[in-house]
Amino acid sequence: MKLLLLILSFLLFTGAGDKKWGKNGHRVVGDIAADYLDDETRDAIDRVLGPESMAIASTWMDEIKSDSTYDYTHDWHWVTIPDGMPYAETEKNPNGDLIKAIRDITADLKSGNLSTQEEANKLKMLIHLIGDIHMPLHVGTGEDRGGNDVRVEWFWDSSNLHRVWDSGMIDETQLSYTELSRSINHPTNEQIVNWQNSGVLHWARESMDLREEVYDLPKDKSINYEYMYRKYDIVEKRLLQAGVRLAGVLNEIY
Ligand SMILES: [Zn+2]
Repeated sequence: MKLLLLILSFLLFTGAGDKKWGKNGHRVVGDIAADYLDDETRDAIDRVLGPESMAIASTWMDEIKSDSTYDYTHDWHWVTIPDGMPYAETEKNPNGDLIKAIRDITADLKSGNLSTQEEANKLKMLIHLIGDIHMPLHVGTGEDRGGNDVRVEWFWDSSNLHRVWDSGMIDETQLSYTELSRSINHPTNEQIVNWQNSGVLHWARESMDLREEVYDLPKDKSINYEYMYRKYDIVEKRLLQAGVRLAGVLNEIY
């Protein structure tokens, strides 16, 4: 019986793949983006979201995973691109993927033909997904469900690589999302221009290029202070890039 329970909990654990930055990662992206909006864009977003901030709206797309009405969005949080392959040549998920969703939602918002409710939903999705594509393991190799199958010990607790990158390192800072956002929100003007002057395929490519760093694990897969020390800069940079780029896309839409 004990063994059965162990096996069951193992299956449940490994089957429940997380597919997101943790809540605070997404909030940081929304919070940073709010600082780089044109006046016109800010007014439009205030109109669409009402009193809800972009930071708070950023996690809605994870919340709707519990609502079957939105099952069609389930696979939009990630994309599979094997090493060395351009996205164009990959086998496409019939349910859509992260790159297609960002492109389609951006086009829908630009069209201006949406009902108020649809516009609010799509805006919240875009805020979330531009965060997701900057999380390196959301652009998966196709071999380990975006690192969910790579079991690691994170500070001596059982975890997996996806979870470490999704929330483990961010939680380890013990900062709130506003503190975290304030601590990293210092891009140079040159960075803002360069980062905003790039598209979704480039962002995915950058995530792929980080794989070597992400999968650089010790043999015993026990990671803690040193891994955090060596990799956390990447997390900060990706959150900042995502925020700055989200603002760029929104300025273009509105
Ligand atoms: Zn997500």
